[in-house]
Amino acid sequence: MQHFPIFVSLAGRRVVVSGGGDAALAKLRLLLKTKAQITVFAPHPTPEIADWAKAGRLTLIRRALAPGDATCAVLFYAADEDAQEDARTAALARADGALVNIVDNLGDSQFITPAIVDRDPVTVAIGTEGAAPVLARAIKADLEARLPTRLGPLARIGKAFRKMADALPMGRARRDFWSDYYFRAGPRAFDESGENGAKAALDDLLNAHLTRQSRPPGHVAFVGAGPGDPELLTLKARRALDEADVVIHDRLITPEILELARREAVLIDMGKEGFGPSARQEDINAALIEHAQNGAQVVRLKSGDSTVFGRLDEEIEAVEEAGIGWHIVPGITSASAAVASIGQSLTRRGRNASVRFLTGHDTKGFADHDWRTLARPGEVAAIYMGKKSARFIQGRLMMHGADPATPVTIVENASRADQRIIEARLSDLPDTLAAARVDGPALTFYGLAPRAAALAAQHDFNLTQELA
Ligand code: SAH
Repeated sequence: MQHFPIFVSLAGRRVVVSGGGDAALAKLRLLLKTKAQITVFAPHPTPEIADWAKAGRLTLIRRALAPGDATCAVLFYAADEDAQEDARTAALARADGALVNIVDNLGDSQFITPAIVDRDPVTVAIGTEGAAPVLARAIKADLEARLPTRLGPLARIGKAFRKMADALPMGRARRDFWSDYYFRAGPRAFDESGENGAKAALDDLLNAHLTRQSRPPGHVAFVGAGPGDPELLTLKARRALDEADVVIHDRLITPEILELARREAVLIDMGKEGFGPSARQEDINAALIEHAQNGAQVVRLKSGDSTVFGRLDEEIEAVEEAGIGWHIVPGITSASAAVASIGQSLTRRGRNASVRFLTGHDTKGFADHDWRTLARPGEVAAIYMGKKSARFIQGRLMMHGADPATPVTIVENASRADQRIIEARLSDLPDTLAAARVDGPALTFYGLAPRAAALAAQHDFNLTQELA
């Protein structure tokens, strides 16, 4: 280890920066998070630096650094982005007794600034001795994603509560309490009712841990897993998977996503398939309740967004009736992923001011809808579970006068490596679908063609108009 990591108190102490360009700006952004007395020497500072000076956040001296300018400074940054000038200012600052950093010159620097994850008062510093800045950035991004953004306020509130928590026996019991606060109850309460909520949650949690002297009560998180690409999981979904004791998932959840569940978590496949073999809803409800009653943190993982065609309400009602706590983590519904893949938007000024999410079938068979309205020109619908019902949907729409040339686009396996886009018209929808042999989950867009095809069609239309 060449550089020894320490956290230096800068409150009220002097930090001097030479330079007024981008390099200085980057350092100043970090330094301004502290309570240091900052002085910048720069003949031509960027407007941001001048603004900070105007706002009294730093002292700006519009000339180059001269001998004695860094007197009493703890830290000095040579940030003129000019090797000669940096060497000159660094030598002056060293003579004045400051610890010196030369931006982008590791060899001549006495200290380096790490990559920082800021959840003040929690600060993570990442250093690679200059070996791999890319790696430092990747680690930073990973930690940023993993640490709740409210960790800062949560930690401040937690710190004030440490004495109270001493009521719990040292070791496991206390650790469980804090981990419960920082990663479960705290963020949830903070989201719902801010700092006061988090404070109240601490009291409740401590009572719960004191009386039970064991684990927190079981809980069910209804989590939307998105359309399949693990990168389309929300940060909250990832965290829920990280903390799960039990994951009860759909047939459509991809292995890459299940991979992200906590290693000790029990994974239960309770898939349902339209027209096919399926887990009964009562069995799913019973499993949720059973595991939560045993004290498990259960993640009910549903594809897309769990609030869209997911029979979510039935599960919530069952869980609630059993007196179990629950919450919903929204996800990216497959219509959002599918429409992104064809470069279109679900609504468009002048075309459609509303969009419908339809299901091709429900528990009783093909689903009926307001076909008359849908058959009007310009309507757009995202049809879920629309493969087997394609002929039925086509028939109903044509019966109500829909234009047979209305574009229909099928997106199979949206967001996954094997994604396919199939273009059709209402008139040939069932045949095109059959010929394409679609066996993955598919979203059907009624009234939308992929952007390029839509533009070409518009062009042809204009041409015929001109010729006519
Ligand atoms: N809650 C889910 C929908 C569940 S219903 C959501 O919000 O997306 C199941 C239907 O969703 C499938 O029949 C299919 O129409 C659609 N679907 C789910 N994942 C999909 C994907 N990756 N690509 C295309 N359609 C998908």
